[in-house]
Amino acid sequence: MTHQPHTQIAIIGGGISGLWLLNVLGNLGYSVVLLEQEALGQAQTFASQGMIHGGIKYALGGFTTPASESIASMPETWRQCLAGGGPLPLTGVNTLSDAYYLFSDGSLGSKVTAFFGSKSVRGRVTPLAPSNYPALFANPQFSGSVYQLQDMVIDTPALVNALAAPYQAHIYQCQAKLIRSLTGEVTGIDTGHGILTADCYILSAGTGNAELLASDNPSSIAMQRRPLQQVMLKGHLPQAYAHGVSLRTAAKPRVTITTHPCEDGDNVWYLGGQLAEDGIDRSEGAQIDIARRELNDLFPWIDLGAADWATLRVDRAEPANDLQRPDSPFCQRSHNTITCWPIKLTLTPMLADQVCAAIDLKPAGCAADPLSLSPAKPGKTPWALAF
Ligand SMILES: Cc1cc2nc3c(=O)[nH]c(=O)nc-3n(C[C@H](O)[C@H](O)[C@H](O)COP(=O)(O)OP(=O)(O)OC[C@H]3O[C@@H](n4cnc5c(N)ncnc54)[C@H](O)[C@@H]3O)c2cc1C
Repeated sequence: MTHQPHTQIAIIGGGISGLWLLNVLGNLGYSVVLLEQEALGQAQTFASQGMIHGGIKYALGGFTTPASESIASMPETWRQCLAGGGPLPLTGVNTLSDAYYLFSDGSLGSKVTAFFGSKSVRGRVTPLAPSNYPALFANPQFSGSVYQLQDMVIDTPALVNALAAPYQAHIYQCQAKLIRSLTGEVTGIDTGHGILTADCYILSAGTGNAELLASDNPSSIAMQRRPLQQVMLKGHLPQAYAHGVSLRTAAKPRVTITTHPCEDGDNVWYLGGQLAEDGIDRSEGAQIDIARRELNDLFPWIDLGAADWATLRVDRAEPANDLQRPDSPFCQRSHNTITCWPIKLTLTPMLADQVCAAIDLKPAGCAADPLSLSPAKPGKTPWALAF
């Protein structure tokens, strides 16, 4: 009889949540296997803007919110990790920017301006004097205000590589399908090349969780997708790490910009925020036209004439919440299966704490049985695929 491979914990999905959990649980001494259907990071994780943020963008209405509070301590946790400490040392992972800015087009309301100077957000928002503006805003045509946030922008490919490297031998490529008993309990994973059994199954498959949960009939957990159409432009562009806000878009950044260096020396500006939310029903061309106008309006002194443009349609995967963003990570255990979504890349350390608390196994301290599957490798960023 052939031996059926077994592991204590099987993780499905190789985005930030699955990879982070692989490291945390492996470091605790559990035998762990991670299954990824395509390439590590290539779904929401590489589509993200990499911002590790403290929630100020959720407080643009001029008051703190549950979302802005639950995330407030996260930049400090990540800074500890990047310095080699914290819940998961991330030495070798670089930030693209150690600072993130918020700028107004001159029309920011006095209520918000007063709030940014108030005690409730002290340390999280610092109004800057023009002499301290980042180079992007050092132009006489800029008439707004600039605030520095405690946020930073992480290099997501470096993050995925650093999380994959120590456990590469435990990461396999396959589209996992759950096998369930008549009572709905997961009894194994069909890997396409055999069955893997585990004491505990973790579903951290982003949008893929919907299909995995569909095999549980009826499932108590429902997923929502919130779509975006992000915009990318590549060229000889300066570094920009900033939310543009104005009274026009009130409680949300009208555009959120991050900059990603390319191998040929160009930069990609990656645009999200209200622009990406409002653009879901536009054609690619219409979305690019609006993005171009938006940037010309915000930065008339920057020449975008030679840039190449593209868009990315992508869904955020979350537990159902009336199509509103949930405030905190989601982790729910049912029998021997834990379903999770981090909601934000930033909140992954918090999610990992919740998952660890939901596991009732003692670490075996031995390796999982090897599987006869190919290894899953890190994927490509949207801009590497587009340009
Ligand atoms: C455009 C955009 C911008 C964002 N910007 C930010 C930001 O700046 N800061 C922030 O904190 N958050 C941001 N987020 C949110 C953040 O990206 C996500 O919360 C996070 O990346 C989710 O990680 P994940 O590992 O749960 O899912 P994913 O990264 O989507 O990974 C899930 C993985 O599971 C795999 N999978 C699916 N089904 C199966 C299966 N059956 N078998 C095997 N593998 C499977 C997929 O191939 C995928 O690789 C952004 C999200 C988007 C979409």
